Amino acid sequence: MPSDAVVDRATEEDYVSFPESVQRLARQRARGTCECTNSSCPHYGHCRLPAKEFHHKKAIADGGDEELTNCQYFCVACHEQAHKTTDQLGRI
Ligand SMILES: [Zn+2]
Ligand SMILES: [Zn+2]
Repeated sequence: MPSDAVVDRATEEDYVSFPESVQRLARQRARGTCECTNSSCPHYGHCRLPAKEFHHKKAIADGGDEELTNCQYFCVACHEQAHKTTDQLGRI
């Protein structure tokens, strides 16, 4: 085995994604629409943009898991917002 075939995957491990089976179920549940109902987002109530990214309700670092119950299917903007909100607790 040539040693130059080894790829450094450390950065990928920081961003764990859900198993494909969970992703499929989340897609079915969301029916293509962003599942966000976050009041800190510009949308009122349920976001209706096309969903594109999977979000951990509870981060893996905080003890969250890879189950469907911890998975939300978001549009790009809401996914970004979800992370901003977590990072900026205390801001009104
Ligand atoms: Zn959204
Ligand atoms: Zn949102």
